[in-house]
Amino acid sequence: MSKTKPVSRLDLLTLDRQIQDLPKEIVFCRNCVVSNQRPRTRFNAQGVCSACEWAWEKDHAVDWASRDKELRELCDRCRSRDGSYDVIVPGSGGKDSAFVAHQLKHRFGMTPLSVTWAPFSWTGIGWRNLQAFIRVGFFTIVGQPNGDLHRKLSRVAFELKGDAWEPFTFGQKAWAYHMAEQTGIKLIVYGENGELEYGGSTKYKNIPKESPEDWEKDHFKGGGVDELVRAGVERGILKKGEARAADLRWYRAPPAERIQELGLEMHWYSYYQKWTPQENFYYAAKYAGFETNDEGRTESTYTKYASLDDKMDGLHFYLAYMKFGLGRASRDAMQDIRRHHITRDEGVALVRRYDHEFPKKHFPWMLDYLQIDEDFFWQVMDYYRGRSNAWVLKNGRWTLKRVVAPLRANAPMPRGGA
Ligand SMILES: [Zn+2]
Repeated sequence: MSKTKPVSRLDLLTLDRQIQDLPKEIVFCRNCVVSNQRPRTRFNAQGVCSACEWAWEKDHAVDWASRDKELRELCDRCRSRDGSYDVIVPGSGGKDSAFVAHQLKHRFGMTPLSVTWAPFSWTGIGWRNLQAFIRVGFFTIVGQPNGDLHRKLSRVAFELKGDAWEPFTFGQKAWAYHMAEQTGIKLIVYGENGELEYGGSTKYKNIPKESPEDWEKDHFKGGGVDELVRAGVERGILKKGEARAADLRWYRAPPAERIQELGLEMHWYSYYQKWTPQENFYYAAKYAGFETNDEGRTESTYTKYASLDDKMDGLHFYLAYMKFGLGRASRDAMQDIRRHHITRDEGVALVRRYDHEFPKKHFPWMLDYLQIDEDFFWQVMDYYRGRSNAWVLKNGRWTLKRVVAPLRANAPMPRGGA
């Protein structure tokens, strides 16, 4: 693989379909710090985003006691009688999956099998947390994808989607289904429904499990890994025949009819229990030996316990900053505001302070992993900044067109869930 390639052809080749559909005029949520540049984010008439509306409903409208009962019923229906594994909990050894697995085991008497789709490269803290989780009593199957193929797919995704992270997401979702197929376990319990918690479709607000049809629609549209392979061959990053079917199958989920045939059910734990990552963290620290980032806060943000396992994490969030003007501090602050850990004004200050901070700690690792040099990295960044609605090039300097600001003093305070 060559070290660098000219990006002049990127415009013709880019597979990014997110930026073109976003509104040109930037608007921020009046309750949190998200903007309409976050894909799939919608605002109500009061200028409040759907994730804030949902957060309000979680506090005021959801009957959590009855959902807890539903979870108990689900477990009673699926619990094995001979002590064999009866539920798959996908995770990376992070606080959220540790919380779900531990609760299912100790509160609901289940026998979880933990499955992990490996990060691009474990950080020290990520690896230690996974080991601590295993040590408190969980069997874990780790899927470690073909390293050469994974790296090249990641390079293709970096150039053509502006997100080197994508191959991981394909495998992360599919791995649990493959393990269910291999082991005959019929229940998969994920942590949170991201679409609902962070902004996106609210279809599953009152539904605990994903339908196989939706699964197929959401995970096969646009071609998934096959699209990356095609583009990689076209661009010369992958040689023909280098991406073998045997290795690629782990990136593709089994089709809907197979999921139905197996009688597989995929539920979100966040449907049954109010999802609060900070509390998951305290829980995981208490029961699963979970540690925070040993260097204090994580680069580009103010938190120290979220997304710690992968050396690629920082870059993934930075790329979102380049494409949408929303960095890692924005991501953390919008969630912390919705959960009343901080106020909107505090969130605004934290975003302004940390969002732009470049994640340099694992940057040399990342350049080596993608086999690119720094110059090429910034060419790709500039390309996506140039396409985005969030940035403008003024006198040779990239500037955000709009930065989140406190609400005007005389503006009425918005309320979610109207
Ligand atoms: Zn909001």
